[in-house]
Amino acid sequence: MLDSLSSSLKDAVKKLAGKTVVDRAAVDELVRSLQRALLQADVNVKLVMQLSQSIKQRALEEEPPRGMSVREHVLRIVYQELVGLMGGAGKVDLAPQTILMAGLQGSGKTTTTGKLARYFKRKGLKVGVICADTFRPGAYQQLATLCAKVDVPIVGSPDEHDALKIVREGMKHFEETEVIIIDTQGRHALEDELIEEIVNINEIARPDHRWLVIDAALGQQARDQARRFNDAIGIDGVLLTKMDGTAKGGGALSAVSETKSGIVFIGAGETTDDLERFDADGFISRLLG
Ligand code: GDP
Repeated sequence: MLDSLSSSLKDAVKKLAGKTVVDRAAVDELVRSLQRALLQADVNVKLVMQLSQSIKQRALEEEPPRGMSVREHVLRIVYQELVGLMGGAGKVDLAPQTILMAGLQGSGKTTTTGKLARYFKRKGLKVGVICADTFRPGAYQQLATLCAKVDVPIVGSPDEHDALKIVREGMKHFEETEVIIIDTQGRHALEDELIEEIVNINEIARPDHRWLVIDAALGQQARDQARRFNDAIGIDGVLLTKMDGTAKGGGALSAVSETKSGIVFIGAGETTDDLERFDADGFISRLLG
């Protein structure tokens, strides 16, 4: 997504160089290139249209600030609107907190839980992980292995089928722990049982954050998943996984916009090291070159 968006934007913005007034034809052309790139990246059509509308309106109506060229003025508007679309970077506190992980099976929830455990531990916080995924066979073992690698304690059991019981026990066990991360079951689809369970876990654990894990390869389904989890528990951050692949990542923008939250972290690989904080400003600056 970045490469194609970046090059078409650069081409379009180049045409504004040397102009002294913003003319409608140039703005239309810029907006068309932007639309093409965003749609190719699987960004939701409605979102793209909203974005185009505000860029057009602002570029034509707002006076460039004194000393700013027309090109810089329009670029700044595109930049601000894109940052707005991404929701900015989601908030991550280096403080005691409970984080509830939501997302479908295969999204990378368990891997990301291990990555987050390492992240907070390296920041000097005392971390504990609860494995409330009692649905997927092998989930506990996978998470236990990851936790052992980063030397973080885990509560859970491969033989216990009651996720709520595990969460209750875990919250009690980790009373003195600073950061508690709860991994939950995913299932293959947005089934009622899945949603019901995460709603119950949310009530028991009363987490400070409810983060949604989204596979960057998802297109429009990202929006449906985000809406369903957001309606159920109120998502306040999105974790985008598998950004090391060929994914376009446009679905994440839809998820972020649907939940009115921001991207908190990006997963870019399978090891516990492969986690990066998302930086919207840097992201867009790179995008616009
Ligand atoms: P869960 O079912 O949501 O808990 O998903 P898992 O954590 O088991 O991940 C599913 C698959 O995606 C595994 O093979 C992971 O190694 C892989 N995976 C997770 N995150 C990433 C990532 O950022 N990059 C890559 N390349 N693979 C990932």
